[in-house]
Amino acid sequence: MVGIVVVSHSAMLAEGVVRLAREMAGEELALEPAGGIEDDDPAHPVLGTDADRVRSAIERAMSPDGVLVLMDLGSALMSAEFAVELLDGAAGPVRLSAAPLVEGTVAAAVAASAGASLEEVAAEARGALAMKAGQISDGVDATADSEADVLPSDASAELEVRNAIGLHARPAARFVETARRFDADVRVAKAGGGNPVRAGSLTNLVALGARFGDSLVVTASGAEAEAAVRALQELAQSGFGDGVTSEPTPAAQPRAVAEPRPVAAGGAVAEAEVVPPPAPGAVLSGVAASGGVAIGPAHRIGGGLGEVPADRAADDPETERRRLDHALDAARAGIEHDRGVVAARAGDADAAIFDAHAALLDDDALLEPAHAAISAGATAERAWYGAAQEVAAIYRGLDEPLLRERATDVLDVGRRVVDAVTGAESAGGAAAGVIIADELTPADAAALDPERVLAIATARGSPTAHAAILSRALGLPAVVGLGAPVLGVADGTILLLDGEAGTVTVDPPPEVMTAAAAARERLAAHRAAALKHAHEPAVTRDGVRIEVFANLGAAGEAARAVELGAEGVGLLRTEFLFLGRDMLPDEDEQADTLRRIAVALDGRPLVVRTLDAGADKPLPALPMPPEENPFLGVRGIRLTLERPDVLATQFRAILRVAAEYPVKTMLPMVATLDEILAARAVLAEARAQTGIDAPMELGIMVEVPAAALGAERLARHVDFFSLGTNDLTQYTMAAERGDARLAALLAGPQPAVLRLVRATVEAAAAHGRWVGVCGELAGDPAAAVLLAGLGVTELSMATGLVPGVKAALREVELAQARSAALAALDTDSADAARRLALELL
Ligand code: PEP
Ligand code: MG
Repeated sequence: MVGIVVVSHSAMLAEGVVRLAREMAGEELALEPAGGIEDDDPAHPVLGTDADRVRSAIERAMSPDGVLVLMDLGSALMSAEFAVELLDGAAGPVRLSAAPLVEGTVAAAVAASAGASLEEVAAEARGALAMKAGQISDGVDATADSEADVLPSDASAELEVRNAIGLHARPAARFVETARRFDADVRVAKAGGGNPVRAGSLTNLVALGARFGDSLVVTASGAEAEAAVRALQELAQSGFGDGVTSEPTPAAQPRAVAEPRPVAAGGAVAEAEVVPPPAPGAVLSGVAASGGVAIGPAHRIGGGLGEVPADRAADDPETERRRLDHALDAARAGIEHDRGVVAARAGDADAAIFDAHAALLDDDALLEPAHAAISAGATAERAWYGAAQEVAAIYRGLDEPLLRERATDVLDVGRRVVDAVTGAESAGGAAAGVIIADELTPADAAALDPERVLAIATARGSPTAHAAILSRALGLPAVVGLGAPVLGVADGTILLLDGEAGTVTVDPPPEVMTAAAAARERLAAHRAAALKHAHEPAVTRDGVRIEVFANLGAAGEAARAVELGAEGVGLLRTEFLFLGRDMLPDEDEQADTLRRIAVALDGRPLVVRTLDAGADKPLPALPMPPEENPFLGVRGIRLTLERPDVLATQFRAILRVAAEYPVKTMLPMVATLDEILAARAVLAEARAQTGIDAPMELGIMVEVPAAALGAERLARHVDFFSLGTNDLTQYTMAAERGDARLAALLAGPQPAVLRLVRATVEAAAAHGRWVGVCGELAGDPAAAVLLAGLGVTELSMATGLVPGVKAALREVELAQARSAALAALDTDSADAARRLALELL
């Protein structure tokens, strides 16, 4: 059962709350008060909070299910955080709750006594005010300024929100920036309800949750009130700088962003949860995602605010205030610098998020509580840390998933300022060693410098999740799905990561280090030998050539693919052009990027996959309504056929490059002939629009069992098939590819999937079509042998795996591979199928 600790400045208050909660939840519950500070005279209790008292309360309440800590004001949070640091290896996770003390404790106690999980108990506590708020129904929200509604206004206007995704971070930042230019006090409210909020606060604006179609009432007072309102009207007419959407198209609906996935394998943690560090020598088990062994210091990224700033005695408030101001300036300069770097690498659209970050530095929602905490005696870093945590909690509590994600931006900015005060090196591009993350986003992985990073360890994820695919592309050993314990590893702790076994050893003993170093040497020697022959073709011992290609997920990877011996690109995941941006890339941008890749390939073939979004790849620029089962929903070709304009733009860009270079196109997630015919019609239109009639092969990805089983009928209408075994395995085994608990079902090569491969190859052969494999299976040397044995003639994989697969194919005779593959069809597990190929290697 989850335990609960109540931290208050007053011992009596803490005990009173505990008694109240017990009335509702019963005596069974581990419910511990931690109030007041240690003193000699119980008759005159001293108000305050004591970290050691909190620590022992947590220890008393602890169980493997974990402990939720609720607290009252100000320094109670710091004491609780410090108490967690003092814990000497807790038996379960500890989570700090931002919930109101009394209502939150009672709600949490009732949930805990009913056997709810820590996650559920924390959610109950957070939602505890809802009932009271509903009953009183005063319409006050967490971010409203109560004095605002009595402010006299000199000018006002109603603005329509006409940009597709509403007043999210970037347009809100432009709003704030415009409002601040004038000598006026500007307030904004949603028309038809809600209190006005100050327009100078990004948080307040975003928290309004204004979407496409909403109206905003802007009022201003002061010398330049009219000018301010006029400027904001103009800004609104430009869709707050995003451009306007005239129709409430499906794209204007709130975007479907999956709720955080149910926690897998030990559980990932939310920002406020503090995980105790694993003991030295502990072996954490996850899922092997990318081979290799690495030994190096841990480096946590994406951990939001990171660790609580170390304690130091605060100087006088004035000095601390100056310190904070300097840190804000330094953070502003850092943001400006990063903006420039990203603008140069990826363009202005991607860089615009930094404007929102800069606006947060001036945000009263952060500054006011930080200044108040400094006046009450906190250090600058603690004050800012606390304010950032509170504001992030406001974002997390919003209804709109897109806005909830903005909590990450607040925490990023929070970290920047805290680092600037304490002089710590910021994470960013400086990430080095063994990278630890809750879950690596594609953007995180793409930003890592493979020269400095040794390996990747994540709490969530699975081997076919896109972050894992990127790790393989970077040639970095990776273990995913390690659960919450990996997030407790302190920066700098030496880790031994084994990407084959799927384990991470914390602070390994010397004998383990020695053995691992030897294994690493052996692997390195094996790789070096494969690398030496990477540029030679993969010809089996009986003289059959198999083409070995690379999968790319970014333009910059093409040169490395060529360097490592890739004979072409069998899958270009064009999603990278669309990810994380609010606006769709136009035809010119797409054509330029494709041309850059084609040039880097220097005459080698390039298979471009049309946009494969949806499910685990939501796109801000293509918002979608929520789906119950996104992997079974509108993704891949289904999505682009709903938006033929997007597909046509992509086809036009591809055609322009195909006119000059050997480019083929393929469609993702095809299940039916109608989809192929509809896409062909869009292609024909794109040809007519561009006037380009150069030949270009059009193929489909076979990743839905229906396509494999119907390949005989589909083959007449396409030039080739490329088996996407990641999704094909997911759909055949009914096992979601991102779920680490299902790793055994997702591991390849599943005999049932091999049967679908055979069906596809046979159908293709009957119509003279070629078949490739571009799922992760192609990059496993043993599976590659089986696939070649089944008649696949092109294997496309993460770049780093090309030399190893070529070496494996050279070791076998195709005739032997064929026999092994036929036998593999009749095995009962992926392991058994794989062993048949390993016997040949
Ligand atoms: C696949 O599903 O196997 C595939 C290659 O596509 P993606 O991994 O991009 O979904
Ligand atoms: Mg796929």
